[in-house]
Amino acid sequence: MLLVLNNKCTFGKEEFKSYISELESIKTIHKVVIAPTYLNIPAVNIKKMSLAAQNVSLQGNGQYTGEVSAEQLKSYGVEYCIIGHSERRKYQRENSEEIGAKLSQLLSKDIVPIFCIGESFPERQQNVYKATIIKQLDEVLSKFSQEDRKKVIIAYEPIWSIGTGQIPTVEQIDEVNELIKSKYNTLALYGGSANESNIDELKKCQNVDGFLLGGLSLNPQKFQEFVNKL
Ligand code: PEP
Repeated sequence: MLLVLNNKCTFGKEEFKSYISELESIKTIHKVVIAPTYLNIPAVNIKKMSLAAQNVSLQGNGQYTGEVSAEQLKSYGVEYCIIGHSERRKYQRENSEEIGAKLSQLLSKDIVPIFCIGESFPERQQNVYKATIIKQLDEVLSKFSQEDRKKVIIAYEPIWSIGTGQIPTVEQIDEVNELIKSKYNTLALYGGSANESNIDELKKCQNVDGFLLGGLSLNPQKFQEFVNKL
């Protein structure tokens, strides 16, 4: 299983040092990828874990104040990058065109995109979630070759589940991840309030190749409990 730790906008320099030393002692057979804020990327020195970024510039190196390019990420050993997260769609108003441009930048530098998609609660209730998910996928991925699409990891993250403690049923997750896999033949993760208390249930999913973890990523002890149960 692939476990991606999305630290979001947390941890200053000193806090991150102690977090990293705790994280280093995690014992697991699963592949762990840590996605700290840009500032903390150089402070990750855990050989058994891989590095991810939480964002990337639409453009390459150049006159783009405040941006961080895929080439720069690569030079810091970043192997994965989250794109399309619902928080960026919401707060930075990111659209599919921009997400596609980021995906393109990442692929050009051999960084694996972790592309997040997922419906809102009203979309789930009104039974239009599949249409939403297909639209999010197609708008970005249809512009890429089949070969490139296979390099993308897709994370199903229902918006109503992120940070809320509410998780979909195993059937609901499996249905969406099966759709993702049948259309795009990629690895498919699940993300949204996954933790040490609900992993016994979540691990029953047949179509989940790993988890994207937000809140849980901040607590190495609980993360150890989670991987013990996985
Ligand atoms: C996320 O935001 O990607 C996420 C999975 O968050 P949480 O685990 O806190 O719901």
